[in-house]
Amino acid sequence: MPRRNALICLLLALYLPASAGIPTPPLADVTVVLDFKGPTSPQTTKEMQREASQILGASGVHLSFATRAEAANNDYSDLVVMTFRGNCKSEPPMPRYDESGPYAVTWTTDGRVLPFGEVDCQKVIHSARSAMWGGDLARSEQMYGRALGRVMAHELVHMLTKTGDHASHGVQRAALSPRDLTGASLTLSKDDLDRLKVFYRAR
Ligand SMILES: [Zn+2]
Repeated sequence: MPRRNALICLLLALYLPASAGIPTPPLADVTVVLDFKGPTSPQTTKEMQREASQILGASGVHLSFATRAEAANNDYSDLVVMTFRGNCKSEPPMPRYDESGPYAVTWTTDGRVLPFGEVDCQKVIHSARSAMWGGDLARSEQMYGRALGRVMAHELVHMLTKTGDHASHGVQRAALSPRDLTGASLTLSKDDLDRLKVFYRAR
């Protein structure tokens, strides 16, 4: 593994709301290795995968998912690793979790964006929980999965396009609010979709 000495994309918490993509035929197949360092639940993980696949799918990028063990035993042409720190299953215990700091990071070295990202599950879940009410609370695992999927999609765009660029709206903004994480829909902006398409067509 390359030496990792810097990071980009401090995807920050924000307190505000965001747009729509048109599905296109598959442009690329990307395998995402999911490395959970703490507990998760099948429902949360499934929803996270579904949400990220839908967001990236609008660009034509098709996502598959694998465990570390599966990745070690197979060859993948386009592979990225996403590590999940902390408890990805339930909200943090009281006292309240520190709200400052990023949801996630993508690693770089010598200015080069690496295919390694890291998500802080408790940060994401805490933020999502603050925007949940009524029926949301009864399906918290699904809501947490949605939030994690959006954060993961954001980092994947950095990794796939190999840039730290951010957008003025949609998933790829530099900061996402609790409502962004939990609302009915959050998509990539047209500019981001175009960036992904141009990147993959040029390969
Ligand atoms: Zn970012």
